[in-house]
Amino acid sequence: MKAKMTAKGSRQWKTLTLLVTGIIALGFGNITASAVSNNFDQTNPFYAQSPLLFQAPPFDKIKDEDYQPAIEAGMAQQKEEVRALADNPAPPTFENTVVALEKTGQLFNRVMLVFNGVTAANLSPVLEKVQEIEAPKLAAHQDAIFLDTKLFRRFETIYKQRESLHLDPESLRLVEYYYKEFVHSGANLSDADKAELKKLNEEESSLQTAFATKLLAANKAGAFVTKDAKALAGFNQARLDGAAEAAKERKTDGYVIPLQNTTQQPDLVSLSNRPTRQAIFEHSWNRTERGDANDTREIVARLAQIRARKGKLLGFANYAAWKLEDQMAKTPEAAVKFMDDLAPGSTAKASSEAQDIQSVIDSQKGGFELQPWDWDFYAEQVRKAKYDLDEEQIKPYFELNNVLQNGVFYAATELYGITFKELTNLPVYHPDVRVFEVFNADGSPLALWYCDYFKRDNKNGGAWMDTFVSQSKLLGTLPVVFNVANFSKPAPGQPALISFSDVTTMFHEFGHALHGMFSNTIYPSLAGTQVARDFVEFPSQFNENWATYPAVFDHYAKHYQTGAPMPAELAAKLKKSEKFNGGYALTEVLAAAELDMQWHTLPAAASSENPDQFEVEALKKKQFVLPAVPPRYRSTYFSHIWSGGYGAGYYAYLWSEMLDHAAYQWFEDHGGLTRANGDRFRQMILSRGNTEELGKMYAEWLGAEPTIEPMLKYRDLLPEQGSSTSASANK
Ligand SMILES: [Zn+2]
Repeated sequence: MKAKMTAKGSRQWKTLTLLVTGIIALGFGNITASAVSNNFDQTNPFYAQSPLLFQAPPFDKIKDEDYQPAIEAGMAQQKEEVRALADNPAPPTFENTVVALEKTGQLFNRVMLVFNGVTAANLSPVLEKVQEIEAPKLAAHQDAIFLDTKLFRRFETIYKQRESLHLDPESLRLVEYYYKEFVHSGANLSDADKAELKKLNEEESSLQTAFATKLLAANKAGAFVTKDAKALAGFNQARLDGAAEAAKERKTDGYVIPLQNTTQQPDLVSLSNRPTRQAIFEHSWNRTERGDANDTREIVARLAQIRARKGKLLGFANYAAWKLEDQMAKTPEAAVKFMDDLAPGSTAKASSEAQDIQSVIDSQKGGFELQPWDWDFYAEQVRKAKYDLDEEQIKPYFELNNVLQNGVFYAATELYGITFKELTNLPVYHPDVRVFEVFNADGSPLALWYCDYFKRDNKNGGAWMDTFVSQSKLLGTLPVVFNVANFSKPAPGQPALISFSDVTTMFHEFGHALHGMFSNTIYPSLAGTQVARDFVEFPSQFNENWATYPAVFDHYAKHYQTGAPMPAELAAKLKKSEKFNGGYALTEVLAAAELDMQWHTLPAAASSENPDQFEVEALKKKQFVLPAVPPRYRSTYFSHIWSGGYGAGYYAYLWSEMLDHAAYQWFEDHGGLTRANGDRFRQMILSRGNTEELGKMYAEWLGAEPTIEPMLKYRDLLPEQGSSTSASANK
């Protein structure tokens, strides 16, 4: 039995949707179980454990047609295993119930981990079809286990006896973990309440799908279309060609600017025609509120009601309280307080940035007041004036393989003593994929790590980490993990020169990979990155710090032709410009996180809300009233929270960031990049998965509770700095 959540990491806010793909939504489809396992073809490559090193997936043998029968057989097999366990006439014991459940579903896990990895990174029409057919069955499979009353009673009995069973701490944690999973899923409810929950889940599930479908259509319909190239003044030829190409694809004349899922649209940074900027922004802002078939307001209002009712049914004050119970923050109050502490500094900084921008507008005799659609366009001018940084100047110092070996790997070797050896004899799912064996300092094998860095049309956007084989001492497995990204692929024979943002992405995803590779747990359900959402981004964001750490930066930032180090002045500019526009970036995320939390703390008795009115009041309540800084997602196109599994969870990105900065501060205070510091971090955090209450685990490592100050300091939001007024943007 493996936990439901996988840690898909994505460092940038704009690609956050990837994080949620591993979360299985509640749903109650029909299980079409049959004795498939008896007929399962023994030549299927998933039939038995892989004979390869670390049980690596035999990609040379796996065909697209092999997945579906293996998934079906895996579900059927696990269903039989679970049935036998639940019907066991012997009284429940830790071994015959908890450990037994941990051992179920090995075929299922074997195929699902590979299936999830390959569908996200190398999708084919066959796999897409399998995904569509299997998704509801997979959700129902989970529910069939966690709402099985007979099974739950066995876990409940053990849970009640747990203090007298003399279990080791990890086993005790596993008992508690499963008990909470069952209760959280509603296993403890009366039959009548279970029936109501099931109905609510069904309605929620279909509304979530309807929301996603409408949003997809709304995004498409919201594209900006023009026949007039002058409306697109500011675009370079390549971007203009791209817009013409998009028009061709839609079989229309002129130019098409498609909508991205966030409020702000990336093209606004270069469009000098103000009415065009305004039009594109308004297409974005109103995409799901046009009173047409793509309007999501009714769905949003109903989803909020359903969730409020679910929260009450499951015994909580509201949905957020239910959702946060097993998170590090534990309560909505803690999450809200955290956001409240960030808000003043963040909005003050955004106001100061707004003043900088307004002074540019005024100096150019613009004669208007800054609006959201002006922000990126003028911020870019401020950035250029302040930092004079040219991406093309920087990239020659970041050749991908050099960054990997002399940056990402180097930092990990310095901290943890681990070493890497590229393997060319293991099969991969695409020729771009590389495989490395990772060794401990004493030379013993630790893990396999795959990387798949280049953009492909059949790959999801963004970057992430995931697992092919989970680490478990119970099952005798070592971790096989992988990183995926979407960097531009160079022409054959050319070096892959990447941006600094890409460099940071490599460190980020490798931070997730370390969390997976260092896992040293007994039970697969508690292994590696299977931790709370408000903790999972901590190791990855933390690992980003080494990208700019002088001893690491100087080791990899070298010119790909001459080997010369990056000139100090350029390096300093680069590091400084990283924090540019930070007030805006934080405020738009905070505003969205506040909206999420207010929607999900509505009481069960609340009447149906009007989303527009609700949103305005929610933001006003929290002083997010800067007219030029709208929330990153408006309620009606906030797919993370309505269809992406992040309801009451959007704050988690910022929470993890607090943990990251507090941790880095600790490293700085204790000598920085040293083996002693790395080993201690590995031993107390990175190797421990979810084997201890995460807040306690973290505080024991830090020697204190985490505070928000290091994050405020990093983001230049401490009062002394935050109140400094606008420097002239024109120098
Ligand atoms: Zn991440």
